[in-house]
Amino acid sequence: MSTFQAPKGTYDLIPPRSAVFLAVRDTIATQVRNAGYGYVETPGFEDVNLFARGVGESTDIVTKEMYTLTTKGGDQLALRPEGTASVLRAALQANLHKQGNLPVKLWYSGSYYRYERAQAGRYRHFSQVGAEAIGAEDPALDAELIILADQAYRALGLRQYRILLNSLGDKECRPVYREALQTFLRGLDLDEETLRRAEINPLRVLDDKRADVQKQLVDAPLLRDYLCDACKAYHEQVRELITAAGVVFEDDPKLVRGLDYYTRTTFEFVHDGLGSQSAVGGGGRYDGLSEMIGGPALPSVGWALGVDRTVLALEAEGVELDLPAATSVFAVALGEEARRILFGKVTELRRAGIAADFSFGGKGLKGSMKDANRSGARLALVAGERDLAEGVVQLKDMESGEQRAVALDGVLDAVRELLG
Ligand code: ATP
Ligand code: MG
Repeated sequence: MSTFQAPKGTYDLIPPRSAVFLAVRDTIATQVRNAGYGYVETPGFEDVNLFARGVGESTDIVTKEMYTLTTKGGDQLALRPEGTASVLRAALQANLHKQGNLPVKLWYSGSYYRYERAQAGRYRHFSQVGAEAIGAEDPALDAELIILADQAYRALGLRQYRILLNSLGDKECRPVYREALQTFLRGLDLDEETLRRAEINPLRVLDDKRADVQKQLVDAPLLRDYLCDACKAYHEQVRELITAAGVVFEDDPKLVRGLDYYTRTTFEFVHDGLGSQSAVGGGGRYDGLSEMIGGPALPSVGWALGVDRTVLALEAEGVELDLPAATSVFAVALGEEARRILFGKVTELRRAGIAADFSFGGKGLKGSMKDANRSGARLALVAGERDLAEGVVQLKDMESGEQRAVALDGVLDAVRELLG
């Protein structure tokens, strides 16, 4: 061990588990690429005010969880705690919304930072893959995103997750509900901080995870009963479209999300094998966000799926992903001449697109064969002085143990044939 360790609340992705992370990212990416989303990458930090205004001054993310810093030049920055505000900022900056085709559909993948109480499934550095559809108010778009996330989880082999769905209303009906909820909350036995939250952002109180708070919220007024006709009709269409796609969901009238910008459709994917950190992904519509960060009206919808918790969910369900072995052919060279020749063969195989590796470090036969086994390779290429004198190398099937001599210039063809 070195003097240093990964900072609290973080961990390193190392083989073989890191391959699962890559596969999760890839599977989600495949779904959104296949649906017309283009890749976007933004900086790891932004002007702190982008998040203060975009995510919301009263949210936990902005008040407690953001890593902020002042640069030597005096700029106030924050490590990004989430992706949506940055992606929308980038789209506005590049005028993507003015180039005719709305919605602008973008996806991203990256690291996010929140100063949280570190525990299983909750880290200070974590990974998300997200998708955003910017500039269109169309229930089919909300439905598309929910269906794509569902497809990604299914493709990974997850089964024990549920989709929770709600509508948060819009600027017509939410203020009326907000008043009603506030009046209700003022009558409860809540601590100072929660009462303060009830004044600034009462919907957030519904998301309080404490049992004593939840108990008092049983009779809280529900947004469902306050939705205006337009929001009701919109929500009904989203429900119909995802139902028609065969995606099963649960209506959850108390579902709110931890970010202020959500309007209308909100949803969360929860996994039942994860204990209290059960949300594997979530998202919704954010029709007002663009204006909140100084842009034009651009109704939008998106989600972010947590890669870390998705991997934990796979482990909880005991799903083994069908990962291709990193190495197909492993070369074992005995003696200097063999090293030179087999190293050349490995290069030749790699140039032909075949995953090949080499026994480095000048080990003997036993140590080298151990390396070959550990690599998971299907074939071993073995050569010593006697083979080379005959102009051949031994090609060994690692599973059956069968071995045959192959002429030096026939290695690539023989490997291709055996690998199929
Ligand atoms: P939670 O309610 O669990 O705090 P959240 O509402 O803050 O989640 P979002 O901001 O919607 O989460 O992020 C989307 C996804 O990113 C979450 O569903 C989760 O999988 C993942 N995520 C969020 N925060 C963390 C974290 N601190 N550690 C690991 N994953 C996280
Ligand atoms: Mg959170």
